[in-house]
Amino acid sequence: MGEEKQRPEWVPQQAGGAFTTYVLEGVEGGHDGMPGQEAGRGFPRFTPPPRRKLDIDDYVQGVLSGNRTVLARAITLIESNSPAHMETAQEVLKRLLPHTGNSVRVGITGVPGAGKSTFIEALGSMLCDRGHKVAVLAVDPSSTVTRGSILGDKTRMEILSRKENAFIRPSPSGGTLGGVTRKSRETMLVCEAAGFDVLLVETVGVGQSEVTVRTMVDFFLLVVLTGAGDELQGIKKGVMELADAILVNKADGDNKIRALTARADYNRILHYLQPATEGWRTMAYTCSSITGEGIAGIWAAIGEFRRKTTASGVFAARRRAQVLDWVYTMVQEHLLVSFYNHPGVVELKPRLEQAIAEDRLSATLAVQELLKAFAER
Ligand code: GDP
Repeated sequence: MGEEKQRPEWVPQQAGGAFTTYVLEGVEGGHDGMPGQEAGRGFPRFTPPPRRKLDIDDYVQGVLSGNRTVLARAITLIESNSPAHMETAQEVLKRLLPHTGNSVRVGITGVPGAGKSTFIEALGSMLCDRGHKVAVLAVDPSSTVTRGSILGDKTRMEILSRKENAFIRPSPSGGTLGGVTRKSRETMLVCEAAGFDVLLVETVGVGQSEVTVRTMVDFFLLVVLTGAGDELQGIKKGVMELADAILVNKADGDNKIRALTARADYNRILHYLQPATEGWRTMAYTCSSITGEGIAGIWAAIGEFRRKTTASGVFAARRRAQVLDWVYTMVQEHLLVSFYNHPGVVELKPRLEQAIAEDRLSATLAVQELLKAFAER
């Protein structure tokens, strides 16, 4: 029959030419049309084109030219735990390093449901429309347990994800918080090298992750809700002291008055707290991520923060301190891992624990013995 155009009977009358189909010759392979014993006479076997392996130059050139596919693959490389990949990733990073740093790094935290992703969608879209290149990253150390509790939902940030100037990357599944941090920090650097000038780093406000994200960003934003009278209860003083701004979201409709009251309450409390950044007064703001009201205002505050802290030198000093802090955090982590995996330590541990339990050994002497075992070999 060849490739003759057919109009099957199920096609609606008014469908025009849109429903034409091609009917192919019967095949002589297996009964399902797949190649049978006489392979080669039916459909050819489909082999997907091999994904070309990129070398270090490809990664570097691709990222620097802003190629999104290469950027995504460079991040995958960074996120890999295989030692071979790590080596390549570090070489790529080393070459990208001179092209990094040219962005404002904004951390965004808040309890689930506070409206973080809706806010990021609104802010990110506004910034893309203004010509910025916006990368959205997530840091979620719990994601290995909860299987991607944030940014896992594909329907989130739908508008932003369609913008040409936006790049959205979910949280790496890294195991330890340290692992996630390394990956996120290095991903930030690669995004900067690819020309992204605004980095929005989202984290769920569940304890340690806020402290970690604070050490990765220039400006830290706490998104809060107005509740029925108890809005301030859930937020710990410690988290408020990390923030450069507190944003009362959902200031729209019936909630607007409550949001304005909450803002005033927060400002009263902030008055007594130590600001997170030298020379900057942390204040509360309101916005609606749905109507867009107040979004430009919070971006203006971030701009003002950047100008002020750059002029005073605080911006650059914080970044330098953050890198050093990161270096020593990684040293500590490596030492811990090598200590507890050291064969001498592994062997000695149960015996020492037993001796301690039977009051035959003091804690201090146990430490000395463990360190001695670690130092040997
Ligand atoms: P997240 O868990 O902090 O990321 O919160 P989401 O961004 O998923 O928002 C939680 C819910 O609040 C969603 O149903 C949003 O539509 C809603 N929401 C977020 N921002 C606003 C806002 O500014 N106004 C109103 N009325 N609803 C909002």
